[in-house]
Amino acid sequence: MRPMYSCSNARVVLVGGGHAHVQVLRFLEADPLPGASLTLVSNETAGIYSGMVPGFIAGQYRGEETEIDVRPLARLAGAELVLSPVTRIDADRRLITAANGAELSYDVASVNIGSTVAGLDLPGVREHAIPTRPIARLIERIDGLLATARAWPAGQSFRVVVVGGGSAGVEVAFTVLQRLTDAGVPEPRLALVESRAEILTGYPASLVRRVRRRASRLGVELLCERRVAAVKETEVRLEDGSSLPFDALFWVTGAWSHPLFRDSGLPTDERGFVRTQSTLQVEGHDELFAVGDCGTMTEFPDTPKAGVYSVRQGPLVTENLRAFLAGEALRAYRPQGDFLSLLNMGDGTAMGTKWGLSFEGRWVFRLKDRIDREFMGRFQVDS
Ligand SMILES: Cc1cc2nc3c(=O)[nH]c(=O)nc-3n(C[C@H](O)[C@H](O)[C@H](O)COP(=O)(O)OP(=O)(O)OC[C@H]3O[C@@H](n4cnc5c(N)ncnc54)[C@H](O)[C@@H]3O)c2cc1C
Repeated sequence: MRPMYSCSNARVVLVGGGHAHVQVLRFLEADPLPGASLTLVSNETAGIYSGMVPGFIAGQYRGEETEIDVRPLARLAGAELVLSPVTRIDADRRLITAANGAELSYDVASVNIGSTVAGLDLPGVREHAIPTRPIARLIERIDGLLATARAWPAGQSFRVVVVGGGSAGVEVAFTVLQRLTDAGVPEPRLALVESRAEILTGYPASLVRRVRRRASRLGVELLCERRVAAVKETEVRLEDGSSLPFDALFWVTGAWSHPLFRDSGLPTDERGFVRTQSTLQVEGHDELFAVGDCGTMTEFPDTPKAGVYSVRQGPLVTENLRAFLAGEALRAYRPQGDFLSLLNMGDGTAMGTKWGLSFEGRWVFRLKDRIDREFMGRFQVDS
């Protein structure tokens, strides 16, 4: 039988300040859990809103505009903030350990730590590639890349290779190219490598055609059915024996789990993401929730690892944490089958899809910009 806490003595711990937990903090600020103690453990003072990252690469947003500072949000929600990465979750003892030695007992906890990138263990990738996750590190490396490119010798092309032809890879490719062009880098060249037969798996064919048309107009090389075998200092070796020279390499190969869940002996899927019920509770551990990229719902294993799902789960996990503490029934989350997907192309236009249709133009960028700024506006509070 599940104990009833009536909130008065409950210890509630949130791990990670991802897209869902920043909302939990805002909801609990407006309607606190009476008497409960709330702690947020985060490895960073700010979370990054991924929807604006391609715009940051293109130079459309400043770094601060992509950040959600969790410190004022925690303070306003009455949460104690522990700034250190969580290294272990002992779900049987209900104990969370952070790298700084903090040990936090909980009655109910929720994890929203996002994901890392697949394929980082291939030879040379960690040393020579710029991975897109953690996103905070990607942001830090863009300025350095621009400085290198601006100082590039005249008459020599600056060659960028992007590995991964999903939506994030496509956005990174076009926004990097635009930024280099705007910065006056004389001959930026871009190649995008994808292991599958086509870019943008899961997206409508009409969007793929739009991206292909744009790529051919801008001279972006799309190399499909090519898989990277290894990375050397200035070249990517492909499995077919060929190689691609680069001056900058972006690694955008899709989501993979942080090792935390496997290291903690929790149930995981094949990529190491923790497995949850549709109520977002970890399988076999009702007092532990996992939301956003880091959890895989066993009932909906193919839900994409995309920020929109984490955003949608924010209100529901708040409700379920509350219901859990009150001993009430929890609600199940049903991922939406289709969502508005908008790709920033870096030049003031965007491409989008919804219900199998695709569209593009300046108005699509304006729509994306408005949606993103509205979302971010919910978290801009005085620190
Ligand atoms: C370039 C790019 C563009 C993208 N664009 C879009 C888009 O337009 N739309 C979309 O839906 N998706 C997009 N995505 C995917 C999106 O980034 C992820 O799906 C989303 O960030 C996941 O959100 P989350 O809430 O699960 O975690 P995150 O928002 O990643 O937050 C996790 C937080 O947990 C913290 N953390 C990590 N480890 C620990 C730890 N051990 N202890 C404590 N804290 C920890 C991190 O610092 C971070 O603040 C994009 C991805 C990339 C790379």
